[in-house]
Amino acid sequence: MDFDAIDLHVHITNWRMLRPEMRETMRRTQKQFEEALSACDDPRVFLRLMDEAGIERAGLINYVSPDLLGFTFEVNEWVSRYARQQPDRFIAFGSVHPHFTTDPAAEMDLLCGRLGIRAIKVHPPHQFVFSNEYVRGEENLRIIYAKAQDFGVPVTIHTGTSIFPGARNKFANPMDIDDVAIDFPRLKILIAHGGRPLYMNESFFLVRRFQNVYLEISGIPPLKLLEYFPRLEEIADKTVYGSDWPGPGVPSLKAVLDQFKSLPISDSAKRKILRENALKIFP
Ligand SMILES: [Zn+2]
Repeated sequence: MDFDAIDLHVHITNWRMLRPEMRETMRRTQKQFEEALSACDDPRVFLRLMDEAGIERAGLINYVSPDLLGFTFEVNEWVSRYARQQPDRFIAFGSVHPHFTTDPAAEMDLLCGRLGIRAIKVHPPHQFVFSNEYVRGEENLRIIYAKAQDFGVPVTIHTGTSIFPGARNKFANPMDIDDVAIDFPRLKILIAHGGRPLYMNESFFLVRRFQNVYLEISGIPPLKLLEYFPRLEEIADKTVYGSDWPGPGVPSLKAVLDQFKSLPISDSAKRKILRENALKIFP
């Protein structure tokens, strides 16, 4: 099998926990939602999809969102079990929700210790928290970042809009990450979706300004990527690939990857974005 890609943003989560009205949104906007449910029930189904697409490893995005989506802290246990089925190919992403924790330090210790979570997801528009909310006193969030930094665990932060009913897009601006990068200089930060479709300049600026800040391109239709980031090649050393499947409107794992591969950028930039940079972040 010839693998050449690492997909750092796949929503393999316990979709069975999703609140019914959100399930409707998923069914309406994602033709492969049933397939996604099977992939979540059985890692072998997902491995087959990865094999077909030529994806070597996948980041399994999980985050706590009890009030909006219905995902409780249990998604961390869930993804831990799932990823252990194939640890060389699955990278478990988990989350501590700053508004739904009484002991964020203990929860982070659990995630990064016993549960084997390898990256943290923060979702400002779904968790109703600015990514820099700790500068205004949200101590739980400060602890989450400090622990991630100490464990050497990267943080993926959602930026840009979300179409889920109830998502609050005032939290979508990546510029708040400027604070996080300054205050946690050893923390690796992945800017998921590059702020699309509103804040690409901000994302590009942050990636160039901070050594540990990366652009993560999931959720951007690849054929729009160079329109959104015309100078992508300049940040090819700081950009990582993701599909966002099965997010709303995202075609198959393979279709997204094939589109990316068709872009008119150099082969060396493609190799870095698809694989080499991710290998440095997740050896
Ligand atoms: Zn996503």
